[in-house]
Amino acid sequence: MSDITKQTLTDLVKNIKEKKLSSEEITKDFILRSEKSNKLNSYITNDFNNALLKAKKFDQKPNFNLKLPGIPIAVKDLFCTKDVKTTAGSKILNNFVPTYESTVTQNIWNEGGILLGKLNCDEFAMGSSNETSFFGNVQNPIDKNLVPGGSSGGSASAVCAQLTPITIGTDTGGSIRQPASFTGIVGLKPTYGSCSRYGIVAFASSLDQAGPMAQNVKDCALLQEIITSHDVKDSTSIDFKRALYSKELNKNIKGKKIGIPKEYRVDGMPKEIEELWEKGIEYVKDCGAEVINISLPHTSYALPTYYIVAPAEASSNLARYDGVKYGFRAKGENLIDMYEKTRSEGFGAEVQRRIMIGTYVLSSGYYDAYYLKAQKVRKLIKNDFDEAYKKVDAILTPSTPSSAFKIGEKKDDPVSMYLNDIFTVPVNLAGLPGISIPAGHDSKGYPLGLQIIGKAFDEQNILNIAYAMEDKINFKNNINDWWIK
Ligand code: GLN
Repeated sequence: MSDITKQTLTDLVKNIKEKKLSSEEITKDFILRSEKSNKLNSYITNDFNNALLKAKKFDQKPNFNLKLPGIPIAVKDLFCTKDVKTTAGSKILNNFVPTYESTVTQNIWNEGGILLGKLNCDEFAMGSSNETSFFGNVQNPIDKNLVPGGSSGGSASAVCAQLTPITIGTDTGGSIRQPASFTGIVGLKPTYGSCSRYGIVAFASSLDQAGPMAQNVKDCALLQEIITSHDVKDSTSIDFKRALYSKELNKNIKGKKIGIPKEYRVDGMPKEIEELWEKGIEYVKDCGAEVINISLPHTSYALPTYYIVAPAEASSNLARYDGVKYGFRAKGENLIDMYEKTRSEGFGAEVQRRIMIGTYVLSSGYYDAYYLKAQKVRKLIKNDFDEAYKKVDAILTPSTPSSAFKIGEKKDDPVSMYLNDIFTVPVNLAGLPGISIPAGHDSKGYPLGLQIIGKAFDEQNILNIAYAMEDKINFKNNINDWWIK
C-alpha cells in the first residue's frame, strides 16, 4: 500500500487490524521519511533500529485489541523514556539516559505504540519558536524560513511533515496549541491533572500538562483517551471519570453556547486573525451553536502573571541541575566553582534569564510584591472563566496573534516572543482544557488556528465542537516537501 505516511492514525489502525498493513511496513515507511528529514531538525534522537525490531516482534504476535497496534510514534524529548536519551533540548541533560518511563509514554506503549524517536523542543520547554534548543532550531515544513512554533516545535513539525502519525507535546503556556497553529495541525492541552506529569522534565509544575498533537480531531481524541490516566505517582493527578473521547465524538453541537471574549480583541491584532475569528464564529453558528459575547476582564494581566509564576517555578525546579547528581558537569576549582560553571555552561541564555527572573520574584523582599501578587491575579483570571461558564459551554478565540514568524525574527526580543502566548496562557493559569484546530490560511498561505477553551474536565465537549468545525472548515495544509533531500 503506497502513501502510508499520508494516512491518518485512524486509517493506519484500521488497516493494521484488517491485516492490510503490517506494523513493519508502517514503521519502515515512517523511518524512511524521517531519515530524509534532516533539514527540518525535528529529531534529537532516533530509535529507528529498536522501532523496527519492535514492529517485527509485534507482527509475529499481533494484538489487535490494542488501541495503537504496532503504530510507530515519535515523542517530544521532554518525556523520560527508559534507556533512551532524554535531553529536554538542553546541554545540561545531553547525556541523560533515564532509568524510568514517564506515565504518559508508558500509557502509549501499553496500547501497542512503538517509540520512533525523541523530538526537538525549546530548552526545558521555554520558548515559542524552538530556537532555544541546544540542538538547533527546527524548521517549519510549510516554509523553510518559518519557525514551527514552540516549545513543542519538533513535535509539530514531525506531524505536519508526516514523520510520525501522531505525537505528544507539553503545554505550560501554549506549547502544544501555538506550534499546532503554526503548522496546520490539531493540538490539545488537557485540563491540569488529566495527564500525569510523572517522568516529564519539569518546567513550571502548576502549569505543565502533556497533550496530543495530530492531523485531525479524531486522532487527537484517540490519543488523549490513551494518555489520560489517574496516577498515584503524580500528587496533582486527578481521579475523575475519563470518557472514551474518540468513541463519544459527536458532531452535533446544536444549541451549544459559545462565548466570544471581547478582551481577546487585542490592539494591533492583524486583520487576518480578526477575519479568521469571524469565520470561526460563522462556522459554529452554521453548526447550530449559539454565539454569546462575554467578558474575561483580567485577560490583560495573564501574560505578566504567567511570566512571574512560570519562571518562579522553573527556578526552583531547575535547582536540581548542579552537576552532581546527573547530567553535564563542568570542571571547577572547587565545589562552588563547579556549580557555577556547570550551570552557566549547561543552560542556554533563555533558561538563565528565567532562572534569574524566578529567583528574583521569589527572593525575600520581592516575594509579596511579585510572586504572591501574581498568585492572587491568577485566581482572578480563573474566576473570570468560572463566571463566563455560568453563561456558556465553551469559548472560541484565535490560537495565536499571528501566523508563523520568520526564523530569527523575534529571537533577540524576548517580550515580542512572549506576546505570542497572549491567547494561550490564560488557559494554563486557569487549569482548563484548550484545543487548537487549523482554520484557515493567511495571505501568504501559512496556516492559522482557532482555539476552543472548555470547562475543567470537559475535553469531550471541546473535542466535539472542534470535530464539528473541522467538517465545516475543510482545511488543507500546504505541504510541499521542500525539505526532502
Ligand atoms: N512560550 C511559553 C514560554 O516560553 C510557553 C512554553 C510552554 O508552554 N512550554 O514559557
